This record gives sequence, structure tokens and C-alpha cells, in this order.
Amino acid sequence: MPGVRHGLRDLCLGVPQPGQCGGAGPRQIIHVDGMCNECGNCAVFCPYDSRPYQEKLTLFWSPEDFANSQNPGFLRLEDGKTRVRLGESVGDYDVSDPGCGLYEDLRRTICAVYEHYRYLLDSFS
Ligand code: SF4
Repeated sequence: MPGVRHGLRDLCLGVPQPGQCGGAGPRQIIHVDGMCNECGNCAVFCPYDSRPYQEKLTLFWSPEDFANSQNPGFLRLEDGKTRVRLGESVGDYDVSDPGCGLYEDLRRTICAVYEHYRYLLDSFS
């Protein structure tokens, strides 16, 4: 149902940190690129001084979308690895491996998406 997706609640999702699923512990907000039309409203109404749609860790649905963005973010690759961009750095990581080279909070956030929000990994078409 196109159009229904474009609500802020649907686009910026609180991801429980591992070990805190369902609890009241801290959550990490991720931005879902494929659901965002870059209207900029979250930059105006976010209670923090930020532009969530450009600054928050972004989940991408395709290599093309990943390449066409400068957001920090990640893309699940067909080979099971995850392409991650942080600043100018882009690399492919096995996020199931704590020694993959990503800092632990980021690795665990990506794993939480894969474990608890798999439905976000593709479009709804
Ligand atoms: S720019 Fe912000 S408010 Fe607008 S669609 Fe994207 S995430 Fe939602």
C-alpha cells in the first residue's frame, strides 16, 4: 500500500540493543533508506539537534542506493557479508564475527536488525 510507509514512526526505528530486547534499556535509532523520501521533516522536528535522515545509521536495500548516498550505513550482501560505510571508509564485514573489525556497538546493532527486524531487509513490493 504505497504512501502508508511515509510516516516518521515507520522510518526511524528503535532497535533494542542485544540483551535488552523488549526491555526498557537504551535503543539505537536506524534510518531505513528505502522508506525515506528525504522530505527533511525529521531534521525540523527531531528533539535532538540533528538531521536523522542524513546522520543516523542507515539500512540500505540495494548496492545502487548505498552507492548513491553518503550516509553512514549498511547493506546486506548476497554472500552474507555486510557492506558498511563510516565516513569515507567502506568495507565488507562478516558481522557474525566479533573480530570482524567493526566496533562492537555497531556490529551488535546490525546483528539486532538481522535477528529481530528481518522484514526491514527488503522492500514491501
Ligand atoms: S526525511 Fe525524515 S521525516 Fe522525511 S521521510 Fe525521511 S526519515 Fe521521514
